[in-house]
Amino acid sequence: EPHVAKFVYDFTEGNKDLKDLLGGKGANLAEMTNLGLPVPPGFTITTEACKVYLDSGEEPPALRDEVSAHLDALEQRMGKKLGQADDPLLVSVRSGAKFSMPGMMDTVLNIGLSDKSVKGLAKQAGDERFAWDSYRRLIQMFGKTVLGVDGELFEEALERAKEAKGVQVDTELDAADLKKLVTAFKKTVKTEAGRDFPQDPREQMDLAIHAVFDSWNTDRAKLYRRQERIPGDLGTAVNVCSMVFGNLGPDSGTGVAFTRDPASGHQGVYGDYLQNAQGEDVVAGIRNTVPLAELENIDKASYDQLMQIMETLENHYLDLCDIEFTIERGKLWMLQTRVGKRTAGAAFRIATQLVDQGLIDETEALQRVNGAQLAQLMFPRFDEDARAEQVGRGIAASPGAAVGKAVFDSYTAVKWSRSGEKVILVRRETNPDDLDGMIAAEGILTSRGGKTSHAAVVARGMGKTCVCGAEELEVDTKRRRMIVPGGHVVEEGDVISIDGSSGKVYLGEVPVVPSPVVEYFEGRMHPGADDADELVEAVHRMMAFADRKRRLRVRANADNAEDAMRARRFGAQGIGLCRTEHMFLGDRRELVERLILADTEAEREESLKQLLPLQKRDFVELFEAMDGLPVTVRLLDPPLHEFLPDITELSVRVALAESRQEPHENELRLLQAVHRLHEQNPMLGLRGVRLGLVIPGLFTMQVRAIAEAAAERKAAKGDPRAEIMIPLVGTVQELEIVRDEADQVIAEVEAATGTRLKLAIGTMIELPRAALTAGQIAEAAEFFSFGTNDLTQTVWGFSRDDVEASFFTAYLEKGIFGVSPFETIDKDGVGSLVKSAAAAGRSTRPDLKLGVCGEHGGDPESVHFFHEVGLDYVSCSPFRIPVARLEAGRAAT
Ligand code: ADP
Ligand code: MG
Ligand code: MG
Repeated sequence: EPHVAKFVYDFTEGNKDLKDLLGGKGANLAEMTNLGLPVPPGFTITTEACKVYLDSGEEPPALRDEVSAHLDALEQRMGKKLGQADDPLLVSVRSGAKFSMPGMMDTVLNIGLSDKSVKGLAKQAGDERFAWDSYRRLIQMFGKTVLGVDGELFEEALERAKEAKGVQVDTELDAADLKKLVTAFKKTVKTEAGRDFPQDPREQMDLAIHAVFDSWNTDRAKLYRRQERIPGDLGTAVNVCSMVFGNLGPDSGTGVAFTRDPASGHQGVYGDYLQNAQGEDVVAGIRNTVPLAELENIDKASYDQLMQIMETLENHYLDLCDIEFTIERGKLWMLQTRVGKRTAGAAFRIATQLVDQGLIDETEALQRVNGAQLAQLMFPRFDEDARAEQVGRGIAASPGAAVGKAVFDSYTAVKWSRSGEKVILVRRETNPDDLDGMIAAEGILTSRGGKTSHAAVVARGMGKTCVCGAEELEVDTKRRRMIVPGGHVVEEGDVISIDGSSGKVYLGEVPVVPSPVVEYFEGRMHPGADDADELVEAVHRMMAFADRKRRLRVRANADNAEDAMRARRFGAQGIGLCRTEHMFLGDRRELVERLILADTEAEREESLKQLLPLQKRDFVELFEAMDGLPVTVRLLDPPLHEFLPDITELSVRVALAESRQEPHENELRLLQAVHRLHEQNPMLGLRGVRLGLVIPGLFTMQVRAIAEAAAERKAAKGDPRAEIMIPLVGTVQELEIVRDEADQVIAEVEAATGTRLKLAIGTMIELPRAALTAGQIAEAAEFFSFGTNDLTQTVWGFSRDDVEASFFTAYLEKGIFGVSPFETIDKDGVGSLVKSAAAAGRSTRPDLKLGVCGEHGGDPESVHFFHEVGLDYVSCSPFRIPVARLEAGRAAT
């Protein structure tokens, strides 16, 4: 039988694992249906149908009949027809992609109402006000999302109606008022959209379905996907769900809930509830919600049932869930659930809590956290002891400490941040139009809305500091200012500080202190000790899980003893990259200058002789700090002119001295040297192993310093494990020459000190040619360290310093990269060279040690890649070590 595409699934047909096809909302509605929870019946149109529609501009031909069949079945089941005049079936048409995109996509409620059926609904419900309220909502939502009418026009009309009647909230408008509003809304539709509001229920439904498909490609949805790295070609599913009504009076209502606190992870009753309301009312801040716990007093039976369902969901999903529900005249309905977003801190706590509850094991726990979250927890926080003027407190919606100038609209936030200002975006509440401003801001502050408001959800997703619902702040966006309790006015441009972990808002700039997680890694705070908070405890345990699981070792990039010691505290298992050029700076510059200017061999040898003890001392300290662990020392890499003064500055100095007729012989020689060494393209010039080959004695001096330092440590009963690394090798011949010289120097030091040093000699693989001839190079190298920064530059043929500022934004915008290849390893290009070079190297020398040094060593996604291609270790900056350890553990599960 030929395969026939199936584009529509009843809620009873799907399950939670079909998110690709049914979207997250559809898959979970199906899952809840099959769990026997009270979900209003309905069906889901697949993302496949959406993709066909978006590609061709038309529905797949089979779709209409399939939808009709499912609609028939739904009507049968409900005992009424869509929009039927005397007793209408109403449905919602809801978007729902694989990944949640809060507020990005469209949903239309109350489809099926018309001039006729509104009367039937009124009669059936015995409530005329309710019917007209539902109808005006339909025209409003449909007008805005399907027909593209400016939503403000409806909002304003609603405001005018309330004003005319002298009331505050929409529930105080009666049936007659709402009827008038419906007439006004229909007129608005007619003038703005150039067509009548459709009276045919099926036409309403079909147009709404297309509008949901189309909402996949709105600008704001595209921007959000880029931010969140969600692929652009997934499409959205569409859920058609029979309506239940929270706006049927005080015994009805709608709410949102979390099974645990998404900020702390604590179990409890978290959520908001709003009586006599529908849909988004609860998060839109149109009326004040009550905390979910209040529901127990309002409707105990529904409350108890909801608690029961929340427990069922946690035990089923084995994770924090968030929920949308509606109560219709005392009957509870579940409208949505999903594994809920959470803060970084809560992710760690929840993972360990679930392990303790026996719900998940260590391996699964590691999948519940990630390195980006850990990095976020390592951010500094506000100093609690600082005398800061607190002016308000809202809900701690997304943690972090943000300081910046208050701005009151998205446009200004973007403009100011482009010119280098740090800003805090202050709004009454945010909506998807504020997205640009939220991205540009250091933090977001709103005076309305709860933990589930748009601002809170989006900020948490972006890892951005957010305080929301700070109600005592009077935000006046029109006049670009905010009045704080006591009457002080914060004008646009005044500095404020917001604490997303406590919800506190301060005037002025509050100083920041290190995070407790960093204090823990530094060994200044201990898990299990009195002062250790739950977060430190959770991080400590998760790191232990990761360390038990991981195969990759983690080393640090560190050039001095201080960094090395910190790296050790953070869990480094050695140094993967010690850059020796740092040892040539400061007051040693003069010696280096003399080396470069040397005219005779004797002069050159003299300056090398003076550099030797200085280098040696650096190495002794480093080997001591890393005693017992490997330390890879890279011989000098950067072009020599980097150690000489700036050419313009020097020219000025020479010219000045000349005009004053002062002696300037040295400056002149220096200037000549700068000219001589000047390169058009230093990145591809005289650097790395090339320096070692053309400046006699330079590399051997460095090797001698390493060897003598190692011998000294041995004499002091230490356990130095130095490895000598030759940079920028392109061919095995270069390496062989340098290696022979090095071997000879090491032998001399061994003979002179009477010690066996066992120094390994290896090379960086950072040129395409080196990677392509890795099999040959391995004959002369005991280890490879992939220098993925330079390898990325040379494989792509662009210099990082130049391109990131110039065309990278355009490339990212055009989707050529999802992320900069300097941030995350380009698996297909650079990564495939790493993979083949590793294999070729090992086939020549099976015990070849393989590592990577370079920014990628601390990047989560790249760490997973290096694990997969079988490297032995990654090396990264000390602060990234915990992240690399965690991700290496995650990669191994
Ligand atoms: P979003 O993805 O923005 O949350 P939803 O599709 O969940 O959009 O719908 C928006 C609001 O309407 C939610 O509060 C939801 O609970 C409510 N809603 C959706 N479908 C129905 C329905 N069939 N009956 C009652 N309320 C509904
Ligand atoms: Mg919503
Ligand atoms: Mg929803």
